[in-house]
Amino acid sequence: MLTKREFYIDGAWVAPLAGRDYHVIDPSTEEPCAVISLGERADTEAAVAAAKAALPGWKAVPPAERLAYVEKIYAIYKARAEEMAQAMSLEMGAPITLARAAQTGAGAYHIKCFIEAAKKFDWIHPLGDGTPGAMIAYEPVGVVGLITPWNWPMNQVTLKVIPALLAGCTMVLKPSEEAPLSSILFAEFVDQAGVPKGVFNLVNGDGAGVGTQLSTHPDVEMISFTGSTRAGRAISKNAAETLKRVCLELGGKGANLVFADADDEAVRRGVRHMFENSGQSCNAPSRMLVERPAYEKALQIAKQTAEETRVGSPREEGDHIGPVINQSQYDKIQGLIESGIKEGATLLAGGPGRPEGLNKGYYVRPTIFADCTPDMTVMREEIFGPVLSIMPFDTEEEAMAIANDTPYGLTNYVQTQNAERANRILREFHSGMVVANGKSRGNGAPFGGVSSSGRAREGGRWGIEEFCDVKSIGGWFE
Ligand code: NAD
Repeated sequence: MLTKREFYIDGAWVAPLAGRDYHVIDPSTEEPCAVISLGERADTEAAVAAAKAALPGWKAVPPAERLAYVEKIYAIYKARAEEMAQAMSLEMGAPITLARAAQTGAGAYHIKCFIEAAKKFDWIHPLGDGTPGAMIAYEPVGVVGLITPWNWPMNQVTLKVIPALLAGCTMVLKPSEEAPLSSILFAEFVDQAGVPKGVFNLVNGDGAGVGTQLSTHPDVEMISFTGSTRAGRAISKNAAETLKRVCLELGGKGANLVFADADDEAVRRGVRHMFENSGQSCNAPSRMLVERPAYEKALQIAKQTAEETRVGSPREEGDHIGPVINQSQYDKIQGLIESGIKEGATLLAGGPGRPEGLNKGYYVRPTIFADCTPDMTVMREEIFGPVLSIMPFDTEEEAMAIANDTPYGLTNYVQTQNAERANRILREFHSGMVVANGKSRGNGAPFGGVSSSGRAREGGRWGIEEFCDVKSIGGWFE
């Protein structure tokens, strides 16, 4: 159990000025595993004031020195990776193997990509040819509020804190109250790296409290938020009065188009991707559309893959999946599974209730619905659990219309060996990210969506730019 020194304000660990106790629940036992304090206005005010006071000094630190601090954080992060993996596994139920590799690894990966991007970042450069004295400079936005979710805790914290530091912003991080332990540990890393007082601040709290206080605060210039579309809307409205920049990374309902000429691993890869992290990924390929000649075979492979997917304790090593985060997500997922059955989808694998042998913990059966239609709730709503919906299609036009018929637009996927078709579809998908045949989008590529998935671009060079204002200069002495 944690002690109550969990706020990091103005370069020091402090007890909350005010605040209520909050029990962090271990999703595998449904028992409390830590107690934190939810901040109140006084705590938010103290953190924002510290960030504001630190801004002039941090802005003036040359970019190469800011980079050196981030390199120190990177070294500490790697050296203390096991602690980080244990914290995330405990707070959000990621099996320890996944917590070590993908969850902790994602944070390290982003820090490394930002270091590479910062080395090449041109903080001031000429506008172009034939415009002497005209320059473009990248200036820090100012004090920023960073609000993160629980599903990939370090992925999202590093995607915000690191570029904010590099850009010269000072900040207040409010991690998810469901998974605050990894962020508290991360604050220790920042402290250990010697980042100057007040540059980085952490206040625990919930959305209605600290989240809203940051979103409305007149001294906060920008909110970078990852989480639900619901909260993204609330933050946008709350931030409107003070005209903040608002960068949103929200939900998704990714389509995965599997053509008959797809590689042999395509269906298995899609199912495994859907179930990874117990389906709690905004970029999950949750709607699989299969070309009719390949449909029956795809269903066999999908069923087999679901049945092979083990569900088990986060403490055990292995490639099984763990529980989902909490009771309300568990209930929401169960309700959506029931809706699939009621609305007439074919239950191919899994179904309601816990997997056999697991009576405690928010464990969900890896579930697959077949013969779905585009209007079914399981095809439209983000489920955020290990539930895949599959349907057949006859033509590319029909598949594309279904794929793009969603308010979301985060990541879409296509599986085909036809180069012309693949490239056409990659351009026609309405989403911020598109992937063919399980390939990588490349180190330092931006992460973000369109429409109801939000329009932020996090990671690499684009991620640093988000925390900058572009200053247009005339009359610069050469
Ligand atoms: P959530 O929106 O409830 O909470 C996310 C964070 O926002 C938490 O820190 C929470 O305290 C805070 N918050 C909630 N309401 C707020 C408000 N009104 N004002 C300010 N802050 C508020 O979401 P969640 O349940 O933690 O996360 C799951 C959701 O996040 C899913 O919908 C998922 O798709 C989405 N998500 C998106 C991305 C992405 O990059 N696009 C990544 C991860 C998760």
